Amino acid sequence: MSASEAQPTPRSVDAVVVGAGFSGMYLLHQLREQGLSVVVFEAGTDVGGTWYWNRYPGARVDVESLAYSYSFSPDLEQEYQWEERYPTQPEILKYARHVADRFDLRRDIVFRTRVTAATWEEDAGTWLVRTEHGDAVNARFFVMATGCLSASKMPEIPGLESFKGATYHTAHWPHEGVDFTGKRVALIGTGSSGVQSIPVIAEQAADLTVFQRTPAYSLPARNRPLRPDEIAERKASYRAYRQAQRESAAGIPVTVPTKSALEVSDAERDVIYEAAWESGSLVNLLSTFTDLATDQAANDTAKRWIHRKIHEIVKDPEVADDLCPDYPVGTKRPCLDTGYYETWNRPDVHLVNLRRTPLVEITEKGVRTAEREYEADIIVYATGFDAMTGALTNVDIRGRDGVSLKETWQAGPRTYLGLGSAGFPNMFMITGPGSPSVLSNMVVSIEQHVDWVAGVIRHLDTEGLRTIEATPQAQDDWVAHVNEIAGYTLYPKANSWYMGANVPGKPRVFMPYAGGVGAYRKRCDEVAAKGYEGFALTV
Ligand SMILES: Cc1cc2nc3c(=O)[nH]c(=O)nc-3n(C[C@H](O)[C@H](O)[C@H](O)COP(=O)(O)OP(=O)(O)OC[C@H]3O[C@@H](n4cnc5c(N)ncnc54)[C@H](O)[C@@H]3O)c2cc1C
Repeated sequence: MSASEAQPTPRSVDAVVVGAGFSGMYLLHQLREQGLSVVVFEAGTDVGGTWYWNRYPGARVDVESLAYSYSFSPDLEQEYQWEERYPTQPEILKYARHVADRFDLRRDIVFRTRVTAATWEEDAGTWLVRTEHGDAVNARFFVMATGCLSASKMPEIPGLESFKGATYHTAHWPHEGVDFTGKRVALIGTGSSGVQSIPVIAEQAADLTVFQRTPAYSLPARNRPLRPDEIAERKASYRAYRQAQRESAAGIPVTVPTKSALEVSDAERDVIYEAAWESGSLVNLLSTFTDLATDQAANDTAKRWIHRKIHEIVKDPEVADDLCPDYPVGTKRPCLDTGYYETWNRPDVHLVNLRRTPLVEITEKGVRTAEREYEADIIVYATGFDAMTGALTNVDIRGRDGVSLKETWQAGPRTYLGLGSAGFPNMFMITGPGSPSVLSNMVVSIEQHVDWVAGVIRHLDTEGLRTIEATPQAQDDWVAHVNEIAGYTLYPKANSWYMGANVPGKPRVFMPYAGGVGAYRKRCDEVAAKGYEGFALTV
């Protein structure tokens, strides 16, 4: 069945899943295997989620393909042929489509359909889920597989509508692509999407002006085609590798550091940082020493080292200065790039530091800062997402007594394990706030959550139970634990989207769980083993 064929929407199912990215696809497969009837609603016209929407030039994953892939089907692992170390967006989308075909997923996915509201109906003990097309579906279980980075964000500046040229957001890139040849391009934002797209756009455009509020730390990806021998080796050892992923801190096995950055000589430290830089792996960089995430002085050694690297590559010292971040390494999402810093040596690429000359407005002709107007033919917004909570609160979710999720979370998201929220029975979130999510290789975290949710539904059905809901006490304790762990780290020191700092008015709360994928999984397994401790289960 093609993605564009319209499927009739059923009136009543066991489970409604929102989103057909990696989360929704695997959840659909798992729940169907358990004999449940499932309908998935997806706003896009095909599967793939992030990799369906983010088609900007240079878009790539920064976890290696042989690690950023499903583990639930050994046959799939063996038969699929990845091409590159860090696959491009088209390659990942191809993989998602292959999975959809292979497991015949599309027949239960309703595409081009945004879910607008979901209400818990106490008497029926079911969710009533409504879509933008006026469909209403009843379901015993309601799962938001809507992604941490799917609610895109435009900057809050006046005049967005006045620009006469073409505008694009990296997360809604046209399927047919954009031709920058001969164009003057203004690009706003230097997070991952900006860092990946700037070198590619610079190659094509006549002139590129980049507007930067906060610089990123970026490491050269050293991407390359995968060698047949390394593919064969991984395929031969996949089971052990997957287990190591699950037990690791970030869903990517690394050599665990044993030394503090402060206990080695400057020369020794330089060698270690250089090796991480050469490896083209973010986790290698972040795992060089035991205390980069927790100790300011230790982190400063990495910061100084990277600043030096930037100055070695970028020839204009003022531009290099502007590209050097002032926050601790790793506390905002670091980037992997291909030729990012080198691009700043091109005469046709210009940096505008918005900290010095703030953005004032978008005009008919381009972008105006406090200093001057920059004329452009095209504006690219690489301004990211209302991360982690945006896609959840965009849906009018009403739990017990009509209580709104959005209002309940006004001071910041409150969940138990990032899986459920008190007052919202039989509703689950995949990689919700309060779980490792964006601090991990997300496919590993997605699979763990999907397996856990599938397990709890199996448990309810086997035991003849009707509802499950996080208790307020367990939720309070978990929120306190998430904050306590974040408090041991340097994460809260950066104005990052982890903290909600990129969205004006959003509460500053560190949203993901920083305790590590392995420890977190253990906790979730223990909760399940103790009869879903911290959840109230009813008949
Ligand atoms: C540019 C970019 C680069 C990334 N790089 C990495 C990386 O290197 N490593 C990594 O681990 N992760 C990375 N991520 C995170 C990535 O989002 C996850 O790895 C993963 O793809 C998430 O899958 P998902 O299914 O949970 O969510 P998504 O892929 O975001 O899918 C959610 C889907 O839900 C749909 N949806 C949302 N709301 C509604 C609604 N109300 N109604 C209907 N449909 C709805 C959306 O259309 C979307 O298709 C990146 C994200 C981005 C944006």
